[in-house]
Amino acid sequence: MLLLEHDGKTLLAARGLPTPAGVMIAPGEAPPAALPGAGPWIAKSQVATGGRGKAGGVRLCRDRAELETACAEISTLRIKGHDPRGVRIEAAVSGASEAYLGLSLDAGRGQVIVMATDAGGVDVEEAGEDIATLHADLSPQAIGAAVIRLAESLPANLRRPIREAGAICARAFCEMDALLLEINPLFVFPDGRWIAGDVRFVADENALPRQPEIAALVDGKPESYPDAAFKKAHGYDLVVVDPDGEIGLVTTGAGLSMKLIDEMTARGLKPFNFCDIRSGGMRGDCSRLIEALRRIGEGPRMRCVLVNIFAGITDLGEFATLLVEALRASPDMRLPVVVRLAGNGEDRAEVILRESGLPLTIERDLERAVALCATAGLDKTGGAHA
Ligand code: GDP
Ligand code: MN
Repeated sequence: MLLLEHDGKTLLAARGLPTPAGVMIAPGEAPPAALPGAGPWIAKSQVATGGRGKAGGVRLCRDRAELETACAEISTLRIKGHDPRGVRIEAAVSGASEAYLGLSLDAGRGQVIVMATDAGGVDVEEAGEDIATLHADLSPQAIGAAVIRLAESLPANLRRPIREAGAICARAFCEMDALLLEINPLFVFPDGRWIAGDVRFVADENALPRQPEIAALVDGKPESYPDAAFKKAHGYDLVVVDPDGEIGLVTTGAGLSMKLIDEMTARGLKPFNFCDIRSGGMRGDCSRLIEALRRIGEGPRMRCVLVNIFAGITDLGEFATLLVEALRASPDMRLPVVVRLAGNGEDRAEVILRESGLPLTIERDLERAVALCATAGLDKTGGAHA
């Protein structure tokens, strides 16, 4: 879960990271009477995605009038399908160069990838091969040592800022179970002082039980973290990946669900959501399915629903019974439903689905089930049903 910059900065500032003074306002709210500093200010969209600068979500404002306009405009600016959760107003930084420091968990190796470059800013992806990279063990000491080695490859004036920021970030990364922590830009002044211009912090949702500060963000501001709050409240994942998506997914297993999304996208299909329904945790209660169908039904371009459950332990007969129950309890759900159930109890499941009399398309082969989704819900003219 990507923290809003404001929350990432607040957490990191409490751990010693220098950040510009800033306040956060809600979407549509006017800037407060007491602003950080005397201006100029930077108005920054608080949205759970990167690339805000290029999308017009970061604006320099010389006076209060400009700030008011910028905050109002940024509040309604959707970025990569994400709605802003507010605007952070900061004292603007000037006269500094932009460096980059990144720590990223390499779960496969059980290590951290440490990255740094003097070519920070909005084009950092294009710096590509110029980003110096090292692997380090998952401890503040090992990450700190890697940062010191990396700093040696950078221009002399950046070495101390990168080392200092690196030490703070290494400790925060480990203490807070981060998956990613990036400072970009890391503003460095000619006299050697430095300050974090942007903080990108991806928290591990599985670590929420032992990260009370981050859990408090989800509990205290569910409107800022709707997906994480949803998961905490309902015990399963459903994340809208494309608000204009056409195919709703009721699936289980995070890895399988992600792979399915990738495969559908590769075929030109437009999945609406990621889902890990955790069929094993439903325990005879179909409310998760009703809730998932309701949220999927909210998609404005929806054409069909694909239910894809690959069961090892879950009894598919039981799942099929709950699915029938959930569909009967969802009269507003008028989308065609393609069901692919494979594994434990699939034969009995198929009988239950057929005997329900519901207009379901049952297909055991995943390839064919996905192919059915390519045409389901299209009328003869090729457009989606109204
Ligand atoms: P991102 O595009 O979502 O990563 O948003 P950033 O917070 O990194 O801002 C994007 C870019 O805006 C930065 O790379 C800077 O070039 C610029 N920027 C951000 N804050 C300031 C600031 O205080 N002063 C100046 N001059 N530029 C800033
Ligand atoms: Mn940035």
